[in-house]
Amino acid sequence: EYDVHIIGGGLAGSEAAWQLARRGLRVRLSEMRGTGERSPAHQTDGLAEMVCSNSFRSDDDEKNAVGLLHHEMRRCDSVIMAAAAKAQVPAGSALAVDREVFSAEVEARLQSLPTLDIVRERIDTLPDSGLTIVATGPLTAEALAGSIGKATGSDSLAFFDAIAPIVYHDTIDMDICWKASRWDKPSKFGGEAKDYINCPMDKDQYLAFHQALLDGEKTAFKEWEANTPYFDGCMPIEVMAERGVDTLRFGPMKPVGLDNPHWATEEHPNGRWAYAVVQLRQDNKLGTLWNMVGFQTKLKHAEQVRLFRTIPGLEKAEFARLGGLHRNTFLNSPVLLDRQLRLKSAPHVRFAGQITGCEGYVESAAVGLMAGLMTAAELGGLEWQGPPPTTAMGALLSHITGDAEAESYQPMNVNFGLFPPLHEVKKKQRKEAYTERAKQDIGAWLQTLAPAA
Ligand code: FAD
Repeated sequence: EYDVHIIGGGLAGSEAAWQLARRGLRVRLSEMRGTGERSPAHQTDGLAEMVCSNSFRSDDDEKNAVGLLHHEMRRCDSVIMAAAAKAQVPAGSALAVDREVFSAEVEARLQSLPTLDIVRERIDTLPDSGLTIVATGPLTAEALAGSIGKATGSDSLAFFDAIAPIVYHDTIDMDICWKASRWDKPSKFGGEAKDYINCPMDKDQYLAFHQALLDGEKTAFKEWEANTPYFDGCMPIEVMAERGVDTLRFGPMKPVGLDNPHWATEEHPNGRWAYAVVQLRQDNKLGTLWNMVGFQTKLKHAEQVRLFRTIPGLEKAEFARLGGLHRNTFLNSPVLLDRQLRLKSAPHVRFAGQITGCEGYVESAAVGLMAGLMTAAELGGLEWQGPPPTTAMGALLSHITGDAEAESYQPMNVNFGLFPPLHEVKKKQRKEAYTERAKQDIGAWLQTLAPAA
């Protein structure tokens, strides 16, 4: 009797339900809260609960990628943005809300739609048939997570993120850093052995850096996160530093096999090895984002910026993402999902929200919005055209569904590094150029969408 079954009434599921039921489609929205069950982070039974901060971040749609995402979502008639406007509280250029007013507003708007049923129930297995959107978030209930893991292969479903910081390529000082692979191993992508960007440290710099890691202020795990084990491969850099002064030099900061040409001498014309090296690896196909290999960390964000800018070559680094480590259920989407967020092995199942590996309330809602539109197109027999990759929605979607490096895939906020670059525009004017281009390009795309009933 339903056209679509949506599992999870958080930010993404609520937005997807709105987009579908606004178009007259019959939707069942299953939400486990209200049955006496809640994730460890949720505190209410209201739909679209904001579990932590009450902010949707910057509302500046001229210079900021998340502000641009707000703008695009508003043009798509987003229920999350409409409810946020109703619940807004003063917060400078940020869009902050009274979270209870916000959640009640989302729920009231959804309840006003005649073809939508909101059912308080927990779903424990992925449905075998029928169009489904799974939007159960970073703290997906255990039984369903198990069922998803079975469908995807457990290697492709993570329960913890281990986030290494990501640096914008054009903020790395290549007069100090150099590109090379260890022992000049040829690139598996063909061409020269230059897959990594390397930042060299001498002994004093390394010892100071090691000490700063030990001294740096860290964020504590939440009580309910404490028992979730992290694997050795995801150990925070500061924990590794605690194991001994040389542990990092034999681990992620290993200098061997990396001739630094900036340190070439007559005796060593190819250059010499540094005492320690920080390596960065390309993180997206565009080559605009580079992640600091092995640098997942619980250091406070301000501390990360301060400390990582002491690394030679990163003095002026700007970060697209800072490091972290949290409990977080998410898929290796670039491998598992097609360009329409469908599970390749079971295309009746779509994923939306943070479980796809986006990060943040706004991004989760935006992916929910797109999942709703895609499903509406599929049900209407329309050929889906994705939002242009020059828009914030398009850039985010491209990243999730294929442009990110699958091997190092970790949750990501929207940022201009995901957009096709505008090298020809002066750096100072680039942000405005990105938003202007997006606002123009989204217009034609909106015309392709099925209208609301
Ligand atoms: P959720 O909003 O979590 O929605 C998922 C819904 O699915 C929930 O309502 C849940 O009850 C339901 N559900 C789960 N399993 C089942 C099941 N088996 N059957 C039925 N229903 C189910 N982002 C920010 O932008 N700012 C922040 O300050 C912020 N803080 C965060 C703090 C924590 C502790 C966490 C975990 C995340 C935080 N995030 C934050 C990240 C993220 O953006 C939010 O978690 C966001 O709510 C994700 O949206 P979502 O719709 O994907 O998931």
